[in-house]
Amino acid sequence: MNVAVLGATGSIGTATIDVLHHLDRIDPTKTWNLWAASGHRNVGLLGELAGQFERPPHQIVLSDPESAAAFAAGTMLAKTKIKTGPDALVEIASAPEVDVVVAAIVGRAGLESTLAAIESGKRVALANKETLVVAGSLVQASLQKTKSDRRCAEVLPVDSEHSAIFQCLGDKESSEESENRCKPRKLILTASGGPFRNASIQQMHDATPQLALNHPTWDMGPKITIDSATMMNKALEVIEARWLFDIPAESIEVVVHPQSIIHSMVEFEDGSVIAQLSPPDMRLPIQYALTYPRRLPCETPALDRTRQWDLMLQPVDRERFPALDLGFEVARVGGTAGSVVNAANEEAVGLFLEGKIRFTDIVPACRRALEHHHFEPQPSLSRLLELDRWARAEVRKQYAT
Ligand code: NAD
Ligand code: MG
Repeated sequence: MNVAVLGATGSIGTATIDVLHHLDRIDPTKTWNLWAASGHRNVGLLGELAGQFERPPHQIVLSDPESAAAFAAGTMLAKTKIKTGPDALVEIASAPEVDVVVAAIVGRAGLESTLAAIESGKRVALANKETLVVAGSLVQASLQKTKSDRRCAEVLPVDSEHSAIFQCLGDKESSEESENRCKPRKLILTASGGPFRNASIQQMHDATPQLALNHPTWDMGPKITIDSATMMNKALEVIEARWLFDIPAESIEVVVHPQSIIHSMVEFEDGSVIAQLSPPDMRLPIQYALTYPRRLPCETPALDRTRQWDLMLQPVDRERFPALDLGFEVARVGGTAGSVVNAANEEAVGLFLEGKIRFTDIVPACRRALEHHHFEPQPSLSRLLELDRWARAEVRKQYAT
């Protein structure tokens, strides 16, 4: 299998590289190759990761010519082509040699390459939830189009909650056969609650980036870690679920589960609730997205059954975590709302990490951008990108002084 890992140097990207080495060792039926990888400007780590493979990647993408030159100067990989910029990301995402694209770039920067992978009929292991938040309806349309011209792109979730739901829903073929018997009534996303699960509004008001970056159960990149602290991550995941499973916002719920062992649940018509459990380790959902429908041994350790388990579920406090209401609203209305909220959030998170705004400014900045924009129900991609730029400028304007 030829795999392109977009965002190979990040938290999901490096875990994916681990999974590829593992699969190549243990899979009796296939070889697993890193065919292409991108790493923004992280020249050193990308070189290290690429150099670990017996069959080195064919293509490497960096974001600018300086990084590409630094990579070329430092590498021993004589046959690897080095390319730069967003067009090169699109090129590797749609290269005919590539079987699977792992979309693990953070934020809106991952949008075009993820869309290109879908349009070219690839299997996409999707970590970049922002693509569905910004352009969920375009992704659905594109998947449909590849189905009708028999290229059959697939988007398989890497996000642990969505992988859990995907697993709980069961095999696609069999659920299609028994469509009427197996309809899910609710998708129940679990949320760890993040570092401020028990914090007061005042404590959140005073929170520093260092405190907000200290996630209790997951080790992730900085943007998603701040999103977890505001619970904007769960809001984005509600929107992601809406598009990924083509289900209305009203059929999605969120519960807090601080241990991050129950990754999500599905309630069926008869009231039965099926859950997926495993330790908090992204290698499992990444591997499942790569090998689906096969399940192969995974390096995620088994759940420890020798100790007492205290698995707690509790409702979300919507007052302390107003991001959730925003997420449900966006999931309900669709259109341009996702692009605006996502861009405002990315910008506000950046400003918070730079120490320019307060933690409790992030969600209101997103709400304001949503309310001030002119909603359109069926925007084109260029309109969505235009609104992305507008929302970022709006947030910067608010905090310019
Ligand atoms: P990260 O910050 O650790 O890594 C991001 C990757 O994107 C890096 O390789 C970086 O070089 C690249 N990148 C950043 N800006 C870029 C740009 N402008 N152009 C091109 N490349 C760029 O992030 P992460 O935690 O690995 O998250 C990646 C994606 O996966 C996000 O969408 C996140 O929401 C999602 N996700 C992450 C986790 C997790 O456990 N980390 C879990 C679920 C979903
Ligand atoms: Mg998640």
